[in-house]
Amino acid sequence: MNRLPRAFILLCLVALALPFAAPLAAGSSPKRQAPAPQASPTPVRDEKLWRRALALQKRAIVVDGHNDIPTIMADEDYDIGVSSVGKYHTDIARLKQGGMTGEFFSIYVDRQYATPEWVAKNYTTQGGSARRALDLIDVSYRMIEKYPQDLMLATSTADIRRAKKEGKVGVLMGIEGGHAIENSLPALREFYRLGVRYMTLTHNNTNEWADACCDTARHGGLSDFGKEVVAEMNRLGMLVDVSHVSDETMSDVLDVSKAPVICSHSSARVFSNHKRNVPDELLKRIAQNGGVVMVNFYPAFLDEKVRVAGLERDERLKAQHAALREQFKDDPKRLDEESKKLDDANPIPNTTLSMLVDHIEHIAKVAGIDHVGLGSDFDGVPNLPEGIRDVSDLPNITYELLRRGHSDEEVLKILGGNFMRVFAEAERVAAVERRKISGEGSLRRLK
Ligand SMILES: [Zn+2]
Repeated sequence: MNRLPRAFILLCLVALALPFAAPLAAGSSPKRQAPAPQASPTPVRDEKLWRRALALQKRAIVVDGHNDIPTIMADEDYDIGVSSVGKYHTDIARLKQGGMTGEFFSIYVDRQYATPEWVAKNYTTQGGSARRALDLIDVSYRMIEKYPQDLMLATSTADIRRAKKEGKVGVLMGIEGGHAIENSLPALREFYRLGVRYMTLTHNNTNEWADACCDTARHGGLSDFGKEVVAEMNRLGMLVDVSHVSDETMSDVLDVSKAPVICSHSSARVFSNHKRNVPDELLKRIAQNGGVVMVNFYPAFLDEKVRVAGLERDERLKAQHAALREQFKDDPKRLDEESKKLDDANPIPNTTLSMLVDHIEHIAKVAGIDHVGLGSDFDGVPNLPEGIRDVSDLPNITYELLRRGHSDEEVLKILGGNFMRVFAEAERVAAVERRKISGEGSLRRLK
């Protein structure tokens, strides 16, 4: 049994989507729910501009900071070489259509794996957080092995450039949820050796060494051990990802990190007052640090009216969702379906691709054009803005940026150039730092 208990995912997703709802209510869509088919975008298209957008997309190094397809590959036995149009956001054909050069496969470790209940009940058969990460890394490797003409493992900027040259999609891996290292610097190093090139310090859950956006603060940001984790990541050349962490943690990381940081999938808080989003003062600090904020496409993170409508719907349907949970408590799959049906019968407004581009422009205005990128969260979110159905629609963003008057050079930076600069700088820091053996941390584990 590899399958995640759905009820648990539901709870986590509600925490992701609606951190201000208390107590947690069911009804928000789960992390891995199939996207609803959406209407085709671009009602009146300037064909000449569209051709320019497609040509630019073809020329660009396009890097996406976050894609959750490995969870689906592992839990649903999904083969990424098989078309999943209308069901998932990602397959090989659409990655290529979207012009993807480097896609970060999310090695997402749910918080449940770190709970004493999980360990007591399941450790013998399913392991813990690190084992879950290993399983997702394995499924990523297996897909790369199965489709060597289309995919290649990418662990460096040089690899990403090689993928571009060879017309392949470079698969990068990023761990989501620092509890995956099970409080061990040796485990962190093993993940680096396997090819993991970023780690999101927390998911929505506070762990033993860092506070999360959407959970109780226990450390006032980053603990001393958390600072050792960051130092070791710098030394290795693993990017420090500050999506999902609390503002205090982000600030602490910016104080201590020797390399530029990334937000692999976060948007601007000014447009949606969600703790997952980055406030202007931290956007400015990330710019000073030389980092990049890769915009998340999730409508509730993009648009305050969607966020609020989601909260209101959850409140309205609270009793009905509670009844479903009771009725299908032994049938998580059915519960998932019925919860989705209930939500679908009570639709909330969506937002648009134009709003997504507003986030890009806002971050470019506050932090600078060199500090913004794309972090879709494909297949980790239940729905996307109008104008983006899946990964194949990335050129629509390029088109909209050009339509708003951005130069080719600016668009190339946003699509991946900025990320490449940050990654190269992290590699440079590591090349200097790695002469030290394991930093000061060496064999440190939390006692
Ligand atoms: Zn996430």
